[in-house]
Amino acid sequence: MSAFKTLDDLGDATGKVALVRVDLNLPMQDGVVTDETRIRASAPTVLELSEKGAKVLLLAHFGRPKGERVSTQSLSMVVGAVERVLGKEVMFVPEIAGEVVAQAVGILRPGDIAILENTRFWKGEEKNDPALVKAIAANGDFYVNDAFSAAHRAHATTEGLARVLPAYAGRSMQAELEALDKALGKPVKPVAAVVGGAKVSSKLDVLKHLVAQVDHLIIGGGMANTFLAAKGVNVGKSLCEHELTGTANEILETADKAGCTVHLPYEVVVAKEFAANPPSLRTCNVHEVAADEMILDVGPSAVEALGDVLKTCRTLVWNGPMGAFETPPFDAATVALAKTAAALTVEGSLTSVAGGGDTVAALNHAGVAQDFTYISTAGGAFLEWMEGKELPGISALCG
Ligand code: ADP
Ligand code: MG
Repeated sequence: MSAFKTLDDLGDATGKVALVRVDLNLPMQDGVVTDETRIRASAPTVLELSEKGAKVLLLAHFGRPKGERVSTQSLSMVVGAVERVLGKEVMFVPEIAGEVVAQAVGILRPGDIAILENTRFWKGEEKNDPALVKAIAANGDFYVNDAFSAAHRAHATTEGLARVLPAYAGRSMQAELEALDKALGKPVKPVAAVVGGAKVSSKLDVLKHLVAQVDHLIIGGGMANTFLAAKGVNVGKSLCEHELTGTANEILETADKAGCTVHLPYEVVVAKEFAANPPSLRTCNVHEVAADEMILDVGPSAVEALGDVLKTCRTLVWNGPMGAFETPPFDAATVALAKTAAALTVEGSLTSVAGGGDTVAALNHAGVAQDFTYISTAGGAFLEWMEGKELPGISALCG
């Protein structure tokens, strides 16, 4: 990752117009915002720009209106929630370019904030249409990107604007990039990766990238079953992608050549039915799974051994739960390993970065999310970063 400019490089912005890409794709129910996390994430950037005297125009997408005006997906619906979080009045502008936006800019005083309409109402947004980019840029003096979660898309407001205006990373983007760089860019070795979740197929590129980067690869969750099957273990009726055992073996070979130690569970928690606390629940050696049983979590001794691996490491990157954590007691391995990682982080011996929709939920469930060095809530962008892909929104910021 080459250098990007931050708000520290901006200086006084009195009266200048900031076009700021944020994430306002908020969870909503019946037109009411049910979770303000994403607004809070960008609040420091928005308020700092306001304090620097800029006229702040917020750009964001909401849902998938596919280039049409869909009234139920207007960003006018989030204005109240944004005002509440910022503690400031916010104007709504029902366009993203042209005369209406120019008039709004004329009305705004330095430090004032406005939300422009859902960028995906315009077809040019997802096409990164240069004409739309130019029209949006015409009303701004500089561009700030504070939406890492949208950085894996090369859209007009995530990539195009950074190419035509002076571009800066917002505070939330800056924090995310710095954390990700510490975890996989220039990590302190040894590095461990924990990869779990349901399927190998959804994380093939992640696994392939990580084996060449990390010293220890800990595989858990349903995807471990495919690797176990590849090694000739009978996994009973566990979730398993038998057609991918060849690929799993290739990944194990690549790891071996790269000097990456792969840790698969040697002890597992199994049941005959997938339900909370089922009567058939038992813990056994991985070679003793019966034909009518399924593996639903990593066993307690195996988790302890994985904790010992983390104790020898300085950096951890984590995506995917170790078991079917939504259903007790199959949350036990994820919770125990998360607690070990959190304790090592608090002690100062481990830098820990985690991300992924279910992973964040699992770490919150374990009650340790705040003790990790960094938790990414950017689903798709985080995964693409773990795959080692270049994110167009980031490349554009880096010039
Ligand atoms: P993330 O959203 O963090 O990227 P995934 O979506 O890849 O994570 O995986 C999470 C899902 O994997 C959870 O719903 C969890 O129940 C499931 N899972 C984990 N272990 C198992 C298992 N052994 N059998 C079936 N499902 C599992
Ligand atoms: Mg998921």
